[in-house]
Amino acid sequence: MRVPADKDVADDVPLLARLSHRVAMHFRTAPTTLACETPLVSLTFDDAPLSACTAGADLLGVYAAAGTYYIAGGLIGSRHAHWELADDERIARLHRDGHEIGCHTYSHAFLPSLSPSEIADEARRNVDRLREIVPGLSIESFAFPFGYASLAAKRALRGIYRSSRGIMPGLNVGRVDRYFLKALPLIEGRIDADGIARAMDDALARKGWLIFYSHDVAIRPSAYGCSPTLLEATLRAAAARNIPCVGIVEGLRRARA
Ligand SMILES: [Zn+2]
Repeated sequence: MRVPADKDVADDVPLLARLSHRVAMHFRTAPTTLACETPLVSLTFDDAPLSACTAGADLLGVYAAAGTYYIAGGLIGSRHAHWELADDERIARLHRDGHEIGCHTYSHAFLPSLSPSEIADEARRNVDRLREIVPGLSIESFAFPFGYASLAAKRALRGIYRSSRGIMPGLNVGRVDRYFLKALPLIEGRIDADGIARAMDDALARKGWLIFYSHDVAIRPSAYGCSPTLLEATLRAAAARNIPCVGIVEGLRRARA
């Protein structure tokens, strides 16, 4: 099964969708003021590659950190050009271990192509699939597949989730868009331990919420993932500054959003 990874499609995106995405990036549909008493870090993993749920989750556990895994139910247990995806048992274990399960649509859909009713249908199918694994699971967080949004998609998501995360870099502080939370890539070659330390210092100084996104966690990661060394550097940098690593729902709660 060939499933495009986040960003694989970026070069093929039609101009209209690119424009729509740019408007969505800059037009806040749910302005929210964050009031964090302390800085926060969230580590998020899109698609839930198996390695993020094994090596990645093991490292999070060592540092008592909770991650958020955005899962597309239609991909569960499948193989992919870049990685193998977690199966039911592994996802159940993530939940048992205190990690957050978020939504990434059911079919890893490109949101700008979907109508609001199709987006709602993706949400319904995904929660149904995930509740086969964890009965009664509540899903409150969403991440845009491929990082692509549109204004219509953001509006549709407001009725379904409490937040959505994009891939626009930056620190979440003060007035933010809850349906386009900013995130830094925790991706090999795009950030290093020094860059992570600088971002943490900024979060510390401004009492902001720093969200990272990644995919697989492997010694030789894909072009979309990180090594265990880079993940551990992030966890260490947060621990050294006493910055808690929390899931997205918990981050929103602590930010009193
Ligand atoms: Zn994805």
